[in-house]
Amino acid sequence: MNRQEILNKFKEKGLRVTPQRLTLFMKLAEMKGHIKAEDLYNALKEEIPSISISTVYRTLKEFESKGFIYSLPSSTDYGLTVFDTNLEPHHHFICLRCEKIYDVPEEYVEIKVKNIQGSIQYETVIMKGLCESCKNKKKKVS
Ligand SMILES: [Zn+2]
Ligand SMILES: [Zn+2]
Repeated sequence: MNRQEILNKFKEKGLRVTPQRLTLFMKLAEMKGHIKAEDLYNALKEEIPSISISTVYRTLKEFESKGFIYSLPSSTDYGLTVFDTNLEPHHHFICLRCEKIYDVPEEYVEIKVKNIQGSIQYETVIMKGLCESCKNKKKKVS
């Protein structure tokens, strides 16, 4: 996504363009995938020395409210939020041991949603357990 495309996206959603928001969004687009506020903060520290982790987090929540990304709970770092930049419909498998988040194709899971009064922006099923490589490691030990 180039600068102009990002500017248009912001404008379309009524988000005021600030240099900081722009830099954050560009970095996010460059990193892709599942990102923690901490990861983004670390990636930006050099570029914007004055930035704080709470600003990064606040901006990510802003981006989520505009539908640019969405948040997932992380597996073991309670209270830490992971932001997903991939807006294509898909589900998630989170490994409780290595904390890796795997994307699960939409067609692997069937969901039936009932009785939701509001409008749904995203739907994702979160499964937790041991991923294949952690499962295999466990076997070797015992
Ligand atoms: Zn694992
Ligand atoms: Zn994902």
